[in-house]
Amino acid sequence: MTSKKPKINTNADDTRQRFFIDNSPVRGDVVHMTSALQTILKQREYPKAIKLMLGEMLAAAALLATTLKFKGRLSLQAQGSGSLKWVMAECTDQGELRGLAELEDGADFSDLETSAEALDALTDAVLFINIEHQHGERYQGIVPLEEPTIAGCLAQYYLLSAQVPTQICLACDGEHAAGLLVQLLPRNNEAEQELTDTDLWPRLTILTQTLKSEELIELPAQDILHRLYHEEEVRLPDAEPLKFGCTCSRERCMEALTQVGKDAVTEILSTEDEIQMDCQFCNTHYRFSPVQAMALFGLKVS
Ligand SMILES: [Zn+2]
Repeated sequence: MTSKKPKINTNADDTRQRFFIDNSPVRGDVVHMTSALQTILKQREYPKAIKLMLGEMLAAAALLATTLKFKGRLSLQAQGSGSLKWVMAECTDQGELRGLAELEDGADFSDLETSAEALDALTDAVLFINIEHQHGERYQGIVPLEEPTIAGCLAQYYLLSAQVPTQICLACDGEHAAGLLVQLLPRNNEAEQELTDTDLWPRLTILTQTLKSEELIELPAQDILHRLYHEEEVRLPDAEPLKFGCTCSRERCMEALTQVGKDAVTEILSTEDEIQMDCQFCNTHYRFSPVQAMALFGLKVS
């Protein structure tokens, strides 16, 4: 009796695959996430369209974080004034992802089907790109929401703010999220400019736009790149892992308590036995006894 080989889902791993097109200033990344997405979606109950939007934003954060040239993190935050308050996705230079969405109590999103409809439900939405250096330096960019999809808005942002022509595809089916980013980097000098095939970018743009969401989610990165760009010399370094990771810590909670101040902490302790802080991203509970809390202000509790 022969047994069939089990079908291996090559995208079971959460990965980011960088690629280059040889002899051209084109670079890109393909990201796939399954377990990281599922861990993030398990932290709260989300309606379908919100899951899809959060998944697309996580894929986008993973793609954009690959452009970081330092240790730090990049977050995307869509804020609005509607019953969907905000959606946030973050990725570190190490490929650690976390994300969260905040909905108004009792809000009903059951009639929404797609991520674009969720984006629409934000009402007067603003999309921020926040970049935080490991040593505290921060940068914030505002993405105009003039396109119907997050991918379209981000591509427009790259073009307008950085003058880097960029194509972005994002997809999420509620269990898997994936993304592809390809961009034409500025040439270093005129000699390089002369060597550039001027048809390359228009050609890549048309090819990239033929990618379907199902293909992006289901096919391994190599197959996607072969399917799109098989006429080019695509070079692939080793893929890197993506994973769920939260940057919360007891130290960060202590910093937050110090910022809140002695008076506010004392007031909480006048009615509570301890200070409780819960991380919304990973559901870790942090507890501070009165002795521990007041020690932050150099005070002893008798
Ligand atoms: Zn956490």
